[in-house]
Amino acid sequence: MAKDEILLVKDLHTYFERPGGTERALQNISLSLSKKQVLGIIGESGSGKTTIGLSIMRLIGTNGRIEKGTVHLEKRDILSLPEAEMRSIRGKDMSMTFENSSSILNPSDSVGDQIRETIRIHTNLTYKESNELTLQSLNEIGMQNVSKVMDMQPRELSAGACQKVMLVMSTILQPKVLIADEITRNLDIITQAQISDHFRRRISETNISTLLLTNDPGVLAQLADTVIVIYKGRKLEQAPIQEIFKRPMHPYTFQLLRPMENRKLKTMRSESIDESVNPDMCPLVAKCQRAISKCRTSEMPNETEIETGHQVACYNPISVAID
Ligand code: SF4
Repeated sequence: MAKDEILLVKDLHTYFERPGGTERALQNISLSLSKKQVLGIIGESGSGKTTIGLSIMRLIGTNGRIEKGTVHLEKRDILSLPEAEMRSIRGKDMSMTFENSSSILNPSDSVGDQIRETIRIHTNLTYKESNELTLQSLNEIGMQNVSKVMDMQPRELSAGACQKVMLVMSTILQPKVLIADEITRNLDIITQAQISDHFRRRISETNISTLLLTNDPGVLAQLADTVIVIYKGRKLEQAPIQEIFKRPMHPYTFQLLRPMENRKLKTMRSESIDESVNPDMCPLVAKCQRAISKCRTSEMPNETEIETGHQVACYNPISVAID
């Protein structure tokens, strides 16, 4: 691993067994996360963002399997660790927040108990110290009536308050890696701003490195340093944040991040044409208006580095910058 690299994922393939057959949820996903970096992963619902997080955390459930690939947290090979060791990593070295936090938090334990329990499992802090740390963290994220909230159960809180509790639980021990899944989705604007501010402050004051999973380009623009675009479990493009908004090269990225310009430079049809798509081919071949014959006769292209830090997996990328 490179000097500042914290997390390295190589050639990850995650499959699920469904009643209708095997679903290839992720194919050939590689990424590298450095110290204090915020690496955004953007894609539509069902694109595989959450599955990337769950695969790294080894929480894909009994119908899922990691078919191929490696995940390293610093020098540790995560996929080969015994489950007991993995449990000690989750919550301390790596943690994950979820979009539906109100259903993830334990409904029968108070907020204070749940956060203090996370601290108790992984540290030697006394009850008094963990209580003070919990109060301080809930205050910092902008929670109102913190002393009262500590004694409340998640079902008594709003979705935004539950999201704040989950973010506090996930970052209170300053994990090396935070996987933040849709941290502001479906929240009111004030709560979104409080969560984004807290997130930015926490990242700048600590050494936490983040995988930020979202379908919202605005969240990316505010919080991410680098962006990966995925579609149907395949990685399409990666670039630094300013570069990807200014010069999206993959036709799908162009449509996703520059929808207004897409009216002039057509890249994707809204409907797929009637064309059977081989699962090894580019998953966009039936929608893409830039498809060339090679797209219909070859496997999904590999990522090519166009310039330092900007990679794209496409046989006919866009080559114009947008002002
Ligand atoms: S590889 Fe071909 S079909 Fe796929 S996005 Fe690029 S041009 Fe379109």
